[in-house]
Amino acid sequence: MTNHLFALVRESLPADSAKTFIETPDGRTYSYADLLARSGAYAAALQELGVRPGDRVAAQVEKSPEVVFLYLGAVRAGAVFLPLNTAYTAAEIGYFLRDAEPAVFVCDTGRRDALADVAARAGVAHMLTLDGAGQGSAAEAADRADPNAFADVVRVADDLAAILYTSGTTGRSKGAMLSHENLASNARTLREFWRFTSDDVLIHALPVFHTHGLFVATNTVLVSGGTMLFLPRLDPKLILRLMPRATSMMGVPTFYTRLLKEPGLDREATGHMRLFVSGSAPLLAETHREWQARTGHAILERYGMTETNMSTSNPYEGARVAGTVGLPLPGVRIRVVDPETGKVLPADTVGMIEVKGPNVFQGYWRMPEKTAAEFRADGFFITGDLGKIDADGYVHIVGRGKDLIITGGFNVYPKEVETEIDAMPGVVESAVIGLNHPDFGEGVTAVVVASENAPDEAAILAHLEGRLAKFKCPKRVLFADELPRNTMGKVQKNLLREAHAGLYGG
Ligand code: ATP
Ligand code: MG
Repeated sequence: MTNHLFALVRESLPADSAKTFIETPDGRTYSYADLLARSGAYAAALQELGVRPGDRVAAQVEKSPEVVFLYLGAVRAGAVFLPLNTAYTAAEIGYFLRDAEPAVFVCDTGRRDALADVAARAGVAHMLTLDGAGQGSAAEAADRADPNAFADVVRVADDLAAILYTSGTTGRSKGAMLSHENLASNARTLREFWRFTSDDVLIHALPVFHTHGLFVATNTVLVSGGTMLFLPRLDPKLILRLMPRATSMMGVPTFYTRLLKEPGLDREATGHMRLFVSGSAPLLAETHREWQARTGHAILERYGMTETNMSTSNPYEGARVAGTVGLPLPGVRIRVVDPETGKVLPADTVGMIEVKGPNVFQGYWRMPEKTAAEFRADGFFITGDLGKIDADGYVHIVGRGKDLIITGGFNVYPKEVETEIDAMPGVVESAVIGLNHPDFGEGVTAVVVASENAPDEAAILAHLEGRLAKFKCPKRVLFADELPRNTMGKVQKNLLREAHAGLYGG
């Protein structure tokens, strides 16, 4: 089987290379022939600069089709592509460049002056711009390059294709090393599992510096010969207008909650679509139900992480169960263990989720000790997520290990408390965290975002007391205008814990 990512792309090309690969909202189209020529030109330009197999090619660039061509050009040149979040500040980029030591760093013209200094101090030999013209423009270097004049580098399955830093939801981002096999096997699996073909037209409104937008969405379409409608960001009205000629969308839960606010969202508007996928953060069962009632489509929720690509998915045919992330994907093994002893737990028992398979990464970049600590001797990766597998084999995520609250010796899973609070009229959303407490070790604390006619602290506590064991009930309820979120829409509980650290004087 083909395990080189680009070889897989090449063998999956649509019959007609003039077929559109990417279309942008302003009407520009890029065919599969463009993809071959452009990625070849980037490969040639990178090799011309002296990039060798295994060298990192880092990029902090706004979303455009050109990013995808640069990514594949780097891979074709045998290099390791390293996309960086566009929200990162110059100081943060400096950290990543020092950590990754790329041979080439590509940025947008508008950020060149702000980033030149940190790139130079990190020892980056070549800093290029992607959108600009003239000296130092990667796009122009590619324009000049002969797309066939580069050495096709033979890479084996274990060689790295990319390094992707994790989202930094629980602390400092770590560089996950992803091999050709990791990416190729996952793309092939998702194509089969979600039935992608060259007839598919995917609405792509995700960023392309994250595993979801780059590896799940883009790679799946790439190996299906389909088309992507490339939106720079979430734009619910535009998405509604595009749906009549699209077949599928991959999004994070906020896509669905935002689209549900559009009065035009109904069965007719979504009638041409065959698939809606959600991931990266928990999809509320309520959103799942509302979406199904309005559109007739059951959202297909799946679970993955930067380190594992996709591990589970609800079935394409068969029951898509709200509140679960579905079944292990073919070739992927999932187990739930006691975090302390590593013993496999019976069905329906909450423990640590562990994953093994061709999807699982090669380790954290330059963190051998951390890597060793996160793998069991038998090769299973310890995800850090808590969950259970039910009697039907469906995986349920109950939260992150780091968010588990231990109060007076009892375990409290924040999601259980949040679900009860979120169901109250007037509550927009909530986050339940543990804060140092002199008597209980950790005190359960709720941070609530409320709308008008919101219940107050006493009303929320009274509501919970009738529904949850006393030790699960918050000691205090705090109110906030919004919850801190990262660019993928994930709630950053570590920031909430820092902000309220001294609440109980502990
Ligand atoms: P960091 O590891 O740097 O703290 P992160 O874990 O948020 O950041 P990602 O790799 O982007 O970085 O996210 C993976 C995590 O997202 C998973 O470990 C899981 O906690 C969460 N996640 C992904 N999909 C789902 C889902 N469908 N339901 C619940 N949680 C999900
Ligand atoms: Mg993580």
